Parts: sequence; structure tokens; C-alpha cells
Amino acid sequence: MKDKYDVVIIGSGLGGLVSANILARHGYSVCVLEKNQQYGGNLQIFVRNKNIFDTGVHYIGSLGEGENLNQYFTYLGIMKELKLLKLDDDCFDVITFDDEEEEYFHAQGYKAFSNSLIGQFPEEEIAIHAYCEKIQEVCRNFPLYNLDTSSKGYSIDVLNIKISGYLDSITNNDLLKAVLAGSNFLYAGGKNTPLYVHALSVNSYIKSSWRCVDGGSQISRLLIKRIKEFGGEVYNYQEVVRFGFDGEDMTSVITKGGKEIKADMFISNIEPKLTVKMLDGKGMRKSYVNRIKSIKSMISAFSIYIVFKPKTFKYINHNNYHFKNPKKVWDAQEYSKSSWPEGYMLSMGVRKNQDEWSNNLTAMAYMKFDEVAQWKDTFNTVAEESERGEAYEKFKKEKSEIFINELEKKYPNIRDCIQSVHASTPLSYRDYIGSNDGAIYGYEKDADNPMMAFLSPKTKAKKLFFTGQSVNMHGILGVTISAVLTCSHIIGKEKLMQSIKASL
Ligand SMILES: Cc1cc2nc3c(=O)[nH]c(=O)nc-3n(C[C@H](O)[C@H](O)[C@H](O)COP(=O)(O)OP(=O)(O)OC[C@H]3O[C@@H](n4cnc5c(N)ncnc54)[C@H](O)[C@@H]3O)c2cc1C
Repeated sequence: MKDKYDVVIIGSGLGGLVSANILARHGYSVCVLEKNQQYGGNLQIFVRNKNIFDTGVHYIGSLGEGENLNQYFTYLGIMKELKLLKLDDDCFDVITFDDEEEEYFHAQGYKAFSNSLIGQFPEEEIAIHAYCEKIQEVCRNFPLYNLDTSSKGYSIDVLNIKISGYLDSITNNDLLKAVLAGSNFLYAGGKNTPLYVHALSVNSYIKSSWRCVDGGSQISRLLIKRIKEFGGEVYNYQEVVRFGFDGEDMTSVITKGGKEIKADMFISNIEPKLTVKMLDGKGMRKSYVNRIKSIKSMISAFSIYIVFKPKTFKYINHNNYHFKNPKKVWDAQEYSKSSWPEGYMLSMGVRKNQDEWSNNLTAMAYMKFDEVAQWKDTFNTVAEESERGEAYEKFKKEKSEIFINELEKKYPNIRDCIQSVHASTPLSYRDYIGSNDGAIYGYEKDADNPMMAFLSPKTKAKKLFFTGQSVNMHGILGVTISAVLTCSHIIGKEKLMQSIKASL
């Protein structure tokens, strides 16, 4: 490790690695510091009974030829080597409800998407077409989403529209509304979620939907390979604990091990709320720091990871979003102890040479941090399951049982197929990712107060930039764009976009 770099990046999540890749390509000396053993943040995988599980990548949108994420990944030099499996064209997501026998399909491509839903809701043809038009219209407002430098950018009016209000304006059919919003675990959506958050998420998957073969960590592995080829450096076990200043001038970061690393610029890929804590009151005005501290974090999750006995459970090449009833699509986060989980998202891991049998599945449901608050002073970043004590293990077991009971309603034979069950809680997300109270996707976006969660990558401290899921959008596509935006403040937007376009 050198004493000084052009740019030090704190955190090796997707945003940190994409930023490092871009800056290294443009000749900057970069150094990425990661606190954990594994790089990638939410791209991390873990292995149980020889099965690879993803922590935060179930499927990725828009990786088809010519689509936006494909173009960004091509520029980053990782697209060709990614091992992907396309989800079923006629159904990449299925939306289901306890009290509805019928399953509702989201198909890939707008034509197939609308035709499939019109087949199930023939009387709603006009509303379904209007919805598809609107989603694409909203997405056209976001220049970087379209690799477009000519557009002036989005208008504030787009930020104020709620997905719930928009759907009310096109149809009275509550079931159709729930089906259209049914994949809202993707962005932890509710009634106040802005339409643009919904649109940017679902549009990317409607374009095309893919699973990562043997896990999403291939993305971080490939990004790091390219960073190193361009002379960048990446280090694990380097937890940054504070920034160093010369007067008010930010000059370095200091790690837990006491190492000081100097740089001309700093990019924080960790949550802004946690970043400002490391400033020790320097470098930023108090009002700005207080604004960041007051932003509401998103809810967390409880996930179960099931390993199946060999050749017992069929592989399903789509995801399932399931709710107790259509109303729960809008408030699954408002559960009580007895009603949990109000809904879940279920997805399967895919391996090389995938056959008709599944080795494993992951299912996730919302969970508030309060539920695990009694263990908040325990920390764990290695797979020592008993570290938080017996009561915690009991809690996980009880919740897993309740969850499996729910899954059994939809998949009646599932229990007989299970070889082992593993679980993660809001504490796992907090400790493995470093997110505030285990928030799954960063900060809550509310159409009633759209500017509240809006943070520019250019911070009020002269040399410090933010990147990652708390800035702009979360998800693999959203964070990649967030990193492009961050780097555009360093390299210059025109220059960066030109180099991206030249690479295609
Ligand atoms: C359960 C779940 C499911 C998801 N499913 C999908 C999906 O199917 N598709 C999709 O597109 N997106 C999905 N996402 C979202 C997506 O994975 C994330 O939005 C994205 O990976 C976040 O990237 P990031 O750059 O914000 O970094 P993060 O992943 O937040 O990583 C931050 C990194 O910083 C490190 N760090 C923290 N503090 C320090 C410190 N002090 N010093 C050094 N390093 C530090 C952390 O260890 C971590 O490696 C999912 C997320 C979750 C939680």
C-alpha cells in the first residue's frame, strides 16, 4: 500500500468497485479499502452444504444486448465474462396471493408483458397499455439511465408522483394494481413510493431478467481484476474508522489498525449516515450533517436459505412474490408478531449446467430492526452462527419455522425436500454490509418529500464524494449508475460519457 493516492475509496461494494474501475481507467491512482474479508458488500456469497447462496443479488435486469446495464458492464470490461442464465421469457416474476388460486405473470419485453396481463385481465387492456407507456416515459426522464448526455434531466414533477396514486388513476381494479406493483420488494415499496422508483426498477427487468450462475460475487471478482489491470489497488480487512484533517482540509483516512492513507480525494461507498460519523465534526456544516442524520433508513429483512435434498425440488426459472392478499402489497412492512410474514420474495440459485432439479432457494421477508435490538451489541462477520448466543439462535429457528409454514401453503411438499435451513436477520445485513440498522436498500424515498432522501454524490466537504445505494438508486443497475454519476463529478460528465460510448 502506498502512502498517498489520487483517490481512496472506502468500501468495496458495487459502487466502490465501479468507481475504482472507472477512475483507474482514466489514469487515477486508486485504492479501495474494505473492512470485511470478502469484497463486494451485497455481492458477497456464502456457502452452506456446498451450496452457493447470494446475499443481495437474486436477479439482474437489462443485461441483454444493447440494454443499459449491458452497455455499462461492457464499458467496465466485465460483460463478456459474466455467467448468466436468462429467466423465462413468458414469466420472470410470478405474483401470487394466499386467497387467489390464479398466478399472475410478468413477462419479458413490453409486448409480451402487456399481452400476458391482458390475457389475465382482458377488460383492463387500456390501463395495461397506459401503464407500459407511462413506465417507459418516466424512464426517459433520467439521462444516465439511458446513457444520454443530451437531455436536461428530470423535472421535479416526476419525483412527486406516487405509484399508488398513478395506478388509481388508470384503473379501479385493485387486483391488477397489486399485480403491477407486486414485485415491490425490489425497492421496499409502499403507498408513498414515488412512481419513478417503481419505473426505474421494473423497466430494467421487463427489458430482460437474468440470474448469476454460481452467484453474484463474479461481478466483484471481475471488477477487481480490471481495477488491478489498470493499476488500482484493493485491500480487505481495512476498516476505515475516521478521516484525517489538516485544519479543515481532509487529507487522509485512518483504519482500525491505525494505518493512515492519504489522498487528494475520497469516495465513501458506505452509508452517508455512517460516513459523517467518521468526520468527528469536521469538514461539513452541522446543518448538512443533521440533514443526513435525519434521513429515514429503509426497513431490513429476514432471509431463509434452504438446501434441498438431491433431486427432490424442481428448479423454477422465475421468482415468486407472494402476499397474504392483494392489499398486503401496499403494507407488508406493517406486520405484527402474529401476522409476520405478510409476504415474501422467493428466488432460486442457479448453478453451472443447471438441470431440472434445484439445489437451493432463498426467500426473504421484511423485518424491523427492533425485533433483533436485544442483540444489537453483538457483532459478527464470520460464519460462526452461535456467536450471538442461544437466544438468538432460538429466535432464528422460530422465525424460520414460521417462514417455512408460509412457504408450505404455496409449495406443499417443500418441507420433505429440505436438507438444511439457514437464516439471516437485520443484524447480518448490518454486520456484513455495514448498513444502518440493516437497512436493505439504503434510504427511504417518499413522494410526499422527494428531496428529503436526495443526496448529491458531491458532498459539502470539498474532497469527499458519496457513492452506492444511498445515493440515487439501489440495485445492481441503480448503483452502477450512481457510481458513474459520482465519477462524473471527478472526471467531467461529457468526458466520461464519451469514453463510455466510445467503448460500445
Ligand atoms: C436482501 C437483498 C436482496 C437484493 N436483491 C437484489 C437483486 O435481486 N437485484 C439487484 O439488482 N439488487 C439487489 N439488491 C440490492 C443490491 O445488492 C445493492 O443495492 C448493491 O449491491 C449495493 O451496493 P453499494 O455500492 O451500495 O455497496 P454495499 O453493498 O452497501 O457495500 C458497502 C461495502 O462497504 C464496506 N464497508 C462498510 N463500512 C466500512 C468501513 N468503515 N471501512 C471499509 N469498508 C466498509 C462493507 O463491508 C461493504 O463491503 C439486494 C439487496 C439486498 C440486501
